[in-house]
Amino acid sequence: MKIAFIGLGNMGGGMAANLVKAGHSVNAFDLSEEALAAAKGNGCETFTDAAEACAGVDAVVTMLPNGAIVKSVYEGSVIGKAPAGAVLLDCSTIDVATAKDVIAKAEGAGYDMVDAPVSGGIAAANGGTLTFMVGGTDKAFARAEEVLKAMGKAVIHAGDAGAGQTAKICNNMLLAITMIGTAEAMTMAKKLGLDPQKFYEISSQSSGYNWSLNAYTPLPGVGVESPADKNYQGGFATALMLKDLRLAMEAAGSVHATTVLGSTAAELYEKFAEDNGGLDFSAIIKTL
Ligand code: NAD
Repeated sequence: MKIAFIGLGNMGGGMAANLVKAGHSVNAFDLSEEALAAAKGNGCETFTDAAEACAGVDAVVTMLPNGAIVKSVYEGSVIGKAPAGAVLLDCSTIDVATAKDVIAKAEGAGYDMVDAPVSGGIAAANGGTLTFMVGGTDKAFARAEEVLKAMGKAVIHAGDAGAGQTAKICNNMLLAITMIGTAEAMTMAKKLGLDPQKFYEISSQSSGYNWSLNAYTPLPGVGVESPADKNYQGGFATALMLKDLRLAMEAAGSVHATTVLGSTAAELYEKFAEDNGGLDFSAIIKTL
């Protein structure tokens, strides 16, 4: 396939490289010259205009920072510029309302389009092991799956347009809550005089079992190796967790969902991100 890829940052750079490795021909566009140079090195053909990159392609993939940028890129450079039969895939994490709006506009112009946000960080993007949660029609999903398989280990059809973004923000709200809960329990156990490693051994095999404890233990030297062991460098940045929590709170408000713990998690990450946005999100344990 000939695929246009727009947004070659931390995530998009590795994803575009994996499309090339899978045998696709990739037209790459980014505002950053550095990102374009890296894409060229990975076998992409580079363009200085997004609309030109979309000419004559079978598919367009975008991996951009936020909803406003996604909307402007699709309205300005993709819809009406990519061939009528192309399938469009937005893999960015954005708000549900914008995802639905952009897909409706694309469908109105005759395209198949999905929202396909990802779980997994930069390592999974580079390694081709992302999980994609996809929203769109059955036909759009079937066409998008062909493209996504080259970049991920799991591609799941979540439902109609916007369902991918819904799954993503609900998942990450749950992740924030379990991380704070795990951090609280570990800190309390330690203050009560229990060896944190013993707490890990017990709780990770008891009803306290959860991903934040078992697979991402937030205390250095305890449990599995995680960003905590690297001074909370790398991993999933607090600033990105905060972005997802803000999207979750916006979505919760739009349907009057009760999110007592989600709202508290969002407040705690708002405060923590003021000075620690670059640290891994598990570093929130330092505030307890
Ligand atoms: P990034 O900032 O590294 O990359 C974004 C890229 O988009 C940059 O290279 C930037 O130059 C480019 N860009 C911005 N505006 C543009 C425009 N108008 N036209 C073309 N290019 C433009 O961000 P990232 O970490 O790669 O994240 C991308 C998306 O993936 C975000 O929505 C993020 O929430 C989501 N995400 C990130 C991670 C992660 O661990 N980094 C994990 C899951 C999901």
